Amino acid sequence: MIYYSLNNPSDKVSFKEATIRGQAPDRGLYFPESIPTLPGSFFDNIANLSREEIAIQVIRPFTGDTLPENELHRIVAETINFDFPLVPVTPTTWSLELFHGPTLAFKDVGARFMSRCLGYFVRGNNKPVTVLVATSGDTGGAVANGFYGVDGVEVVILYPSGKVSSVQELQLTTLGQNIKALEVDGSFDDCQQMVKDAFADAALQQQLFLTSANSINVARWLPQQFYYFFAWQQWADKDHPPVISVPSGNFGNICAGLMAYSAGLPVSHFIAACNANDTIPLFLATGQYRSKLARPTLSNAMDVGNPSNFVRVMEIFGRQLPRLKDVLSAYSISDDETVTTIKDLNTNYHYLPDPHGAVGYLALKNYLGWHPGEKGIFLETAHPVKFYDTVEKVTGEKIVLPSAIAPLLKKEKQSKKISPRYEELKDFLLSYR
Ligand SMILES: *Cc1c(COP(=O)(O)O)cnc(C)c1O
Repeated sequence: MIYYSLNNPSDKVSFKEATIRGQAPDRGLYFPESIPTLPGSFFDNIANLSREEIAIQVIRPFTGDTLPENELHRIVAETINFDFPLVPVTPTTWSLELFHGPTLAFKDVGARFMSRCLGYFVRGNNKPVTVLVATSGDTGGAVANGFYGVDGVEVVILYPSGKVSSVQELQLTTLGQNIKALEVDGSFDDCQQMVKDAFADAALQQQLFLTSANSINVARWLPQQFYYFFAWQQWADKDHPPVISVPSGNFGNICAGLMAYSAGLPVSHFIAACNANDTIPLFLATGQYRSKLARPTLSNAMDVGNPSNFVRVMEIFGRQLPRLKDVLSAYSISDDETVTTIKDLNTNYHYLPDPHGAVGYLALKNYLGWHPGEKGIFLETAHPVKFYDTVEKVTGEKIVLPSAIAPLLKKEKQSKKISPRYEELKDFLLSYR
């Protein structure tokens, strides 16, 4: 597969180069030259395939000949070595639980896949690679965990001070070794801008081999298609494909879902479930794209005012808004509604969602109310314990800590505070090693 920059279609690279670079030199996002479709036999037979077989068939056209078959098998097997259960919640809705990985959020899949691809691609290089990443919450933990101890790779994580949950902060600041955390006195958008500035800084690039691990990296973005195939494998009523609601911030996950749909996956409709950061719901309603400053909410991993991956979403649909709107709706859910929904699901259905899952569920519920006869899936993108500060306050009940989290709470945070100025980031990058 060849990838081109969305800013300049004549800038073409392989999967390997796209993974190592992260972003094109012109700051464009990479996009595959074609979207491969999967044969009907694959879908007919999906119940008999293992998850690993499904994942390999889905991703192989995208990695092409850059990964030998045995490496691809190893990487895929290590990426998805946990469960993705589809759990019934109400008579018409199911939760696809994506939080059974090591950091209890869906970003584990992309981070694990990318770290292993990058580790393979830079084997034998003499200049160490620095992975630079801005996080609004879960990316940091997943990336830190995915890359921890990978030889030849240094990881620098920027996160907005005071705007991630305490568990999230511990997950990205306590590993040490090749993982460094920078606590930025600003918003997620500030962090993202600083990272973008570093990638645009030619002088810096001469001294460091920089790459990104944000959802813009093709090796993080594309394996997220797996979730949607795993959901279909478990979906009982194959004659009536589900509506799928995706809690969305930077739009990487839902963009992967739309890729899966383009590859032939049966889906009735997609919903981008947003919090108060309503740039895309407004765009779909008005046709006017106005990026905004990020607003802090209870579902903080979705506090994004200018979603990076949305240009890819448009590209899938030939940049034609009416075509996109046939397939995708987008709704904005307030913090008050999020709180009420957590209570409603916990009390009436004995299902405890995290704030992001609650946003996904309510957007789905509203849509199903307007489209009787349909059934749907919401993606539960994080374990509620990651947001226990919020969830326990709502339910008044203590969440049992999964064993993966318990040791974390005893560890000490190690981070460096910086102001939201690119120069400070640059000084750090040139001096920390
Ligand atoms: C990152 C994240 C999201 C948003 O995903 P995008 O791909 O950025 O749209 C939703 N929920 C949780 C828990 C996340 O960590």
